[in-house]
Parts: sequence; C-alpha cells; structure tokens
Amino acid sequence: MFRKIRGQTRAIQLLNNAISHDRIAQAYLFHGREGVGKFMTAFYFGMALNCLSSSEYRPCGVCASCHKFLAFEHPDFIYLFPTPNYKISPTGEIKDGSSLKEYEAYLSNKRESPWKTFFFPGSTEIRKESIMMLQHRLNLSIHEAAYRICLIEDADQMNQATANAFLKTLEEPPQRTVIILVTQRLSVLLPTIVSRCQLVYFNPLPRSVMESILIESFAVDPPTARTASLIADGNLKTSIRIAQESSSENRELALKLLSLAAYDKELEFNAFLQKSRELVSGDYLVEVINHLAIFVNDLALLSTHSELLTNIDQISLLTDIATRSVNLGEGCLEVLLTFEDLKRKIAGHVNSSLILIKIYFTLRKLFLPPSP
Ligand SMILES: [Zn+2]
Repeated sequence: MFRKIRGQTRAIQLLNNAISHDRIAQAYLFHGREGVGKFMTAFYFGMALNCLSSSEYRPCGVCASCHKFLAFEHPDFIYLFPTPNYKISPTGEIKDGSSLKEYEAYLSNKRESPWKTFFFPGSTEIRKESIMMLQHRLNLSIHEAAYRICLIEDADQMNQATANAFLKTLEEPPQRTVIILVTQRLSVLLPTIVSRCQLVYFNPLPRSVMESILIESFAVDPPTARTASLIADGNLKTSIRIAQESSSENRELALKLLSLAAYDKELEFNAFLQKSRELVSGDYLVEVINHLAIFVNDLALLSTHSELLTNIDQISLLTDIATRSVNLGEGCLEVLLTFEDLKRKIAGHVNSSLILIKIYFTLRKLFLPPSP
C-alpha cells in the first residue's frame, strides 16, 4: 500500500529500510508542508509494522491487522489530533453527544476521504486531556500488536503545558511502542521534543506527480489537472480541492476579469465589482489571481511556445486578446510581480474590492489605451 503514496520515494525508502532491518525508532517526526502525504505515510507505516502478511510489500491491506487499522479499530492504534475543547475522560470517552458526533465525523472523513480538510467549528488544539488519555493508554499492556502505534497529527498544536506533559511520555516511551508525530510547522515544536525523534522530511509534491494523481485517481480531465497542480504549489489536498470544487468558478472569474480589462469594459467592470462584493473572500481571491497568472503566462507564451499553454481550451479567446495587447513580453512579467505582491496583501486582510480594482488596472496596462 506504500505504493499509493507518490512523490515521497526518499521518505518511504527510509521507512522500508527500517522495517526490513528491524531497526524501528521509538519516535518519528514527519515534517513537510500540508497535503504531501505525511499522515497517510505515518498510517501505512504503523500498519506495515503490524501487518501479518509475509509478503515484502507490507502493509498488505487485507490481513486481519490491516483490516482493523483501516477501520480505525485496532486496539493498539492511538490517534490524537487537534480538537475543540471536548471533555475527554482519561479512558478516551466523550460523553457529550454533539461533541462525540463531531469527533466521529472527523474520524470518518479521515478514513474515507483523507484528502479533504475537515473543519471543526471553533478553534482547535491538542489538549491536555488528550495527552492524559494517551498516557493512560500507554500504561495498559499491549493487546495484540507487534508494535503499538501512536499517531499525533499537527503535533505543533500543543500549548506549552501540554507539550511539557507529552515530553515526559517521549522521555520514557513504553516498550514496543512507536510514536509518530506529524507537523507542517517544525519550528514551532519544542526543541526537546524534536531532538528525541527521528526526523523524516516530506518534500512538496512535484507538479507532474500531482497531475497524474488527479487524472488517475480522481478522474480529473487533463487540462484541469494541469491548472490545479500549477496553482496548488506542491499541496495535493489543495490541488484536489481546486480540481473538484472551485476550479471552474474561479477560473471563470479570472477569465472574466481578463476579458473586461482586455476589451476595456470599465463600466461592466464596475457593475461586476458591485455584484462580487460579498462573493469573493480572501482565499478564493488568491486562487483567482493564480488563475489569472496562468492566463497571463499563456498570453506571453502564445506567439512563441504555444505547445506550453495551460489553458488550451481558451486558445481562440487568448489569441484574440493578444491582438489587443501592447507589450506582452515585459508587461506580463510586471503583471506577475504585481500579482505576487497582491497575494501578500490579501494575507494581510486587505479589502477584496480594492484588490479587484488593483487587478483590473494592472491588467489594463497590458492592453491598448481606451479608445477615444
Ligand atoms: Zn496486512
């Protein structure tokens, strides 16, 4: 099942070597940006350590142990993640009905569609109660596993007191127990925690890998897969979301802005601005800008390298737009730099109408001046 993880050859090889030489560290820290396969690799690693198959390709995914893991029902699999402030008893019970429902919804999302981000209402962290539950469970004897697996997701989301409590566990880990921490923010973790773990780095996914995952596993059409993997910047989760949900909408928004600017439709742009006032939030605006950047890039490539175009389906519109442009070569570069700057401003929560206006007039510079 490790073969399902793509683009992380080095990390997988390191773990496979550990398994085949039976040199398993007591604690691992998987780090790297979001959406590159850290959780799935940690999960499969735990499965592989307990897989009952004699095949060299472990985890097999079909033996009794693998089955229990895949259902999240293995008695020796402990899984912690940031939650809202639930009352979790030391034995791991959540009494409150609606909290329990949320908690289970998180687990079922993880089981069935781990590429989707699950949002709890309200703020989350790994709470002291969760660490106390972990310590309670680690004090019990192992049920049936070769290695008890404890997976802690977003391990950076512990406050100081919780991290210190957890450090005690890490300093004296019980026998035959493997603790795997997963984080996107290595620098936030206590150095005393980091130094007790074997670090495994996960690189951003190469674009080509994301493209083929989208096409092969998510039935995305090749042009969308290409755009989504360009925009997602190494994050598979983002690329899947873009391809499945918002891509066409944001792409259309981008195309509309480009056309309005190219054909000098300022009045229409103003009307558009009124309508989209509530519609466009910061995150989506960034995606719209990313789409625009690809369109602008395509405009620059059109006359010399048309084989490299991304938006192949819009080639006739782009060709027409290009005839209205003044200085595509240098102009495009300048526009792309301004876009980068705008994206930074969005992160600082600048009013989205202002950003849209700035986008419009930045694009205008590429095209012929208003007709008299
Ligand atoms: Zn198995």
